[in-house]
Amino acid sequence: MVERAEETFFTHLECSRTGESYEKSEIQHVSRAGAPLLARYDTARARASFQPDALTGRPFNIWRYRELLPLANARDILSLGEGGTPLLQAHRQGARLGLSRLYIKDEGLNPTASFKVRGMAVAVSMAVALGAKELAVASAGNAGGALAAYAARAGLPAHIVVPRDAPRGMVAEAEAFGAEVTTVDGLIGDAGRLVAERSERHGWYDLSTLKEPYRLEGKKTMGYELFEQLERTLPDVILYPTGGGTGLVGMWKAFDEMEALGWIGSGRPRLVSVQSTGCAPLKRAMESGALECTPWENAATIAPGLRVPKALGDFLILRALRETKGRAVAVTDDELMKASRALTATEGIFACPEGGACLAALESLVDESWVGKDETVILFNTASGAKYF
Ligand SMILES: *Cc1c(COP(=O)(O)O)cnc(C)c1O
Repeated sequence: MVERAEETFFTHLECSRTGESYEKSEIQHVSRAGAPLLARYDTARARASFQPDALTGRPFNIWRYRELLPLANARDILSLGEGGTPLLQAHRQGARLGLSRLYIKDEGLNPTASFKVRGMAVAVSMAVALGAKELAVASAGNAGGALAAYAARAGLPAHIVVPRDAPRGMVAEAEAFGAEVTTVDGLIGDAGRLVAERSERHGWYDLSTLKEPYRLEGKKTMGYELFEQLERTLPDVILYPTGGGTGLVGMWKAFDEMEALGWIGSGRPRLVSVQSTGCAPLKRAMESGALECTPWENAATIAPGLRVPKALGDFLILRALRETKGRAVAVTDDELMKASRALTATEGIFACPEGGACLAALESLVDESWVGKDETVILFNTASGAKYF
């Protein structure tokens, strides 16, 4: 008899504040303490078979890491080909900044042209497998488009709430996928409150950032991909445009898992959270030594993905930055727009404003000599600039 390969080593969910365990076979949102839940795996057992060589020959998308993703049955996977984005050397910007190893992870090449699909592919697959019938999310724009696409794939209704000034193209995209889009006068937090209220009332499954445990699992695949694309090493520095923080916290989690699996040692890339000066709660908390953010008043920035005055998982982001000896950097809207245009015109990738923010932040870190000339540096372009019209 041929023994079937293990599909997942997922064991349980854990409260990110108290460590309390939660059952994985039921629908779970946040913990009793109101904190995000983290998926945990039996890495001690996975270590025997789930090694980098096991990935050889698998398609380059997020599901190649399925043993460390939560789906119990491959037949429940809803996929549009998410992940497996290129890691491109930024030759011109690297030369300009005097960096020999500057790379762009271009997430604009994902389905729906943003990295939000990594999280939604896993979260919607899990939601449907657990019996969810209607899906909902609060979004600055890209998360809504991503949810709408997977809801269409699953044949389930989706309800999306966005701030009134979300980019029109993103709203049109969600509507094209058949989602119901509601606008609110306010910010992402106001959208989140409306989604929570209606989810409670109508039994919708709330997929807002860190209100369920599985978007994080999809986002963590960016960490695994970097390891593979850099010939089984990790970079020295990762600059990441941060809103709710799932990308950053996801990669940080991936690195811990990779160490537990024996893929890497205890070294970590220095994680840099990039924000706009119009909404920089993480930078303020890093400077004051706070363990959590205080909500940023009158948050305003042209980069919708960065306009998060207070993230549910802020304490995890701050821990990730501090433990990796990273930083939080804020750049002005003018700087990030200039940098996104420069990145686009000099490297041939269509940078979004949030991606531009990473290049602008890198300039200041190079000026400070915080980044070394021969260090491997990753800029995340989290969406395609084509979506921002
Ligand atoms: C959502 C979003 C972000 C912020 O991502 P988090 O992982 O939630 O911090 C950054 N850039 C773009 C384009 C986004 O859509």
